[in-house]
Amino acid sequence: MSVAAERIDRLHALARAAAADGDDERASAYVRLARRIAERNRLELPRQFKRFTCDACDAYLRPGKNARVRLRDGHVVVTCDCGSQARYPYE
Ligand SMILES: [Zn+2]
Repeated sequence: MSVAAERIDRLHALARAAAADGDDERASAYVRLARRIAERNRLELPRQFKRFTCDACDAYLRPGKNARVRLRDGHVVVTCDCGSQARYPYE
């Protein structure tokens, strides 16, 4: 794993921990930083990272707290508090 990929993993863990502490601002700062590193290094963000972050506002998503999760037509639909929706195939 590259240094950049390791930093992204670390930032993902930090974002998750900050979100669990209820510090949404710090969580989204980590999310933004991880995105920047991925972009600069032309890395694909890990699937778990993509699913737990909002593309629109960089929030770290906590279902039942700042995001709603629904199953619809074989898809998982995640709605962030900012109104942005993401759809994934149900696995
Ligand atoms: Zn959002």
